[in-house]
Amino acid sequence: MNCRICKKEIKDGTLCNKCLKSLDDELMTIEERSQRNEMVKSEHDRHLAIGSLMVIIGIIGLFVGIIISPLFVVAICLIVFGAIYFLIGFFKNTSFCPACQRKKCLEDISRDLIGEFQTTIRERRKIERTRHEGGRVVGGYPETYEMEVDAPAVERHYRITYKCNKCGYIGTREESETVKI
Ligand SMILES: [Zn+2]
Ligand SMILES: [Zn+2]
Repeated sequence: MNCRICKKEIKDGTLCNKCLKSLDDELMTIEERSQRNEMVKSEHDRHLAIGSLMVIIGIIGLFVGIIISPLFVVAICLIVFGAIYFLIGFFKNTSFCPACQRKKCLEDISRDLIGEFQTTIRERRKIERTRHEGGRVVGGYPETYEMEVDAPAVERHYRITYKCNKCGYIGTREESETVKI
């Protein structure tokens, strides 16, 4: 089999990977777009997995590198390149129209609240030290201290209705957010 654009030999499908990536949506069939989307999604996942692994190994290397100094440079490189690799994956657009498989064609048309419940958020707070706590306030004693508290919050669930502005497909997805009250 050969790529129908550049004629390069390919194992299966109708386009080589390079053409799959670069060809405009409008010049592709729905199957080709679907194949492209699968490729982009797996690349996105690979970037996130390998990038974060590099950063984690790099951070471990940093601690070991404090003892064995040449490792220090390797660790820094791993963290930097791992972070860059991760970010490339992170910013890949992985939202495709489920009907026509085109990219950059979905538009949110409404956002409806479908559920709401009480929850809490852990947060660090500065607490003013009073004379009652700890018994004594003497010179040099800190005036404030930090403490983790459970702040009241609300978790809201939304149903987002979106439309494909190329094929007219209307779909929904759910989103949630937690906000302090
Ligand atoms: Zn090709
Ligand atoms: Zn569409």
